[in-house]
Amino acid sequence: MAYVITDACVKDFLCASECATTAIHPMIDETSADTASQLYINPDECIDCGNCISLCQSNAIFQIDDLPDDKAEFAEKNAAYFH
Ligand code: SF4
Repeated sequence: MAYVITDACVKDFLCASECATTAIHPMIDETSADTASQLYINPDECIDCGNCISLCQSNAIFQIDDLPDDKAEFAEKNAAYFH
C-alpha cells in the first residue's frame, strides 16, 4: 500500500521536505517544482508511516484504500509520475 496525493494539493512542499524516504516529488528544489500541478507520492518508496497526512493542511493526502471514489484516479496518477 501507499499514500496518495490528490488535486487538493496546494504545493506547500511541507510533506515533501519531511518524508523520511523522500517518496514525495517534486521537491521544492527540483526543476519541475514550478510546473507540476501537484505533488505525488512514489508508491515504491512510501513506507505508509502516515506523517504526511498530519502535515497536509489542505487534506489532499489519503491512504490508497481510503481514497474517495471521486479521487480514485489519483492512485494511478501518483504512480504514473514516477514511470
Ligand atoms: S506515508 Fe510516510 S513514507 Fe509515505 S509519503 Fe507520507 S511521509 Fe512519506
